[in-house]
Amino acid sequence: MALPLTRLVIVLACFFALGPSLRGTTVVSAAPRAAFVPVLIYHHVKWPRPGDNAIERGLTISPAQLATELTHLAAGGYRSVTARDIAAFLRGGPALPKRPVALTFDDGYSDVYANAYQVLLRRRMRATFFIVPGFLDKPRYLTWKQVENMAAHGMDIEAHSMTHPDLTTVPAAQMQREIRLSRLLLESRLHRQVRVFAYPYGAYNGGILRSVRSAGYYAAFTTHQGWWQTETNRLVLPRVYVDNDDTASIFAGRLVADAVALAADPT
Ligand SMILES: [Zn+2]
Repeated sequence: MALPLTRLVIVLACFFALGPSLRGTTVVSAAPRAAFVPVLIYHHVKWPRPGDNAIERGLTISPAQLATELTHLAAGGYRSVTARDIAAFLRGGPALPKRPVALTFDDGYSDVYANAYQVLLRRRMRATFFIVPGFLDKPRYLTWKQVENMAAHGMDIEAHSMTHPDLTTVPAAQMQREIRLSRLLLESRLHRQVRVFAYPYGAYNGGILRSVRSAGYYAAFTTHQGWWQTETNRLVLPRVYVDNDDTASIFAGRLVADAVALAADPT
């Protein structure tokens, strides 16, 4: 009995000899990482045209509205982070800055080049563009050359499937191809890692989550409204819609999940 007891004493002595900081580190790293980050969803940034249908109008904000919102973010001390930054943080990477905000632009419409990317560049802000490779170089969409240029200037380019189907409705083989190939194609053209996915229409199920994980993605965003980005929820991360009729106080409410301000949102 004497030997085991001696060993126990040695083990305990070693544990306490580590000091409170190392013991504390062990405890912290065991907890899931989480951060409160509004991840804003945008699509088109352009002046509405008479021929735009209702869906397109709903997905469009004006360049003036974006400018106002970017000014609001800067005045409020917000720092832009990307989907890649959030994914890295949730996997144990660098801490996010104080007052983080992420701007995401889905689908790769051509208007975001001049009206979002170049505006962000001038303001030294970064954003994430969820790109559908099958749409590039087609009318109304960005070109490969533009996407390469955006990536070269610090923008975060991530995947949004190959052809933007509702992944819950297509055959499993196509669903897997859409998820895997969009990452591989973007990586081979841009020469950088693509490890974040956004579900077309925000639609997913258990099989899609498994495919996203096995295709090598670190994180994936839905269109569920929410602000907490958590390690345990890394494949179904929430975002926050921005409407084209948002007042300044509603936009401010979107950043902080203010229930009163959001209750005033008529849509
Ligand atoms: Zn989309």
